[in-house]
Amino acid sequence: MVWSILKNIPDPEIPVISIVELGVVRSIVITDEVVHIKITPTYSGCPAIDRFVDDIKASFKRHEIPVEIEFVYSPAWTTAWLTDEAKVKLEKYGIAPPVENSEDKGLLFQGGPKQVRCPQCKSTNTKLVSQFGSTACKALYSCNDCLEPFDYFKCI
Ligand SMILES: [Zn+2]
Repeated sequence: MVWSILKNIPDPEIPVISIVELGVVRSIVITDEVVHIKITPTYSGCPAIDRFVDDIKASFKRHEIPVEIEFVYSPAWTTAWLTDEAKVKLEKYGIAPPVENSEDKGLLFQGGPKQVRCPQCKSTNTKLVSQFGSTACKALYSCNDCLEPFDYFKCI
């Protein structure tokens, strides 16, 4: 019940994936009085975390379940926590999923991974346009084959 409520809460920034698929829900403890949920925020620079909390509270309120939310900062969230299903959905949504599991950590600030696949035509003949796409968590790429620009979800 609790998991199914959480699975229906979309990521505030990428509505096609749920916060469960995003990998931010660390644990759930259910007591007689309250559901205690531990959440690890994604990128610290992302403003989405307040939305997570508001959305979770609102969803549980609709089911009349009291909920308590606690942030856990260690271990830090990484893109490796994205489920495979989430990566498929990201690509269908037009965002290239992270290429390697946190291998290119330093690339958040410099350069970019070499083999980012275009979500439209699946070509890897793509180029980095800007380190920052629609949000700080994403980089802007463009495809040399279909010429479409797209967001790349950076690895951390
Ligand atoms: Zn393309």
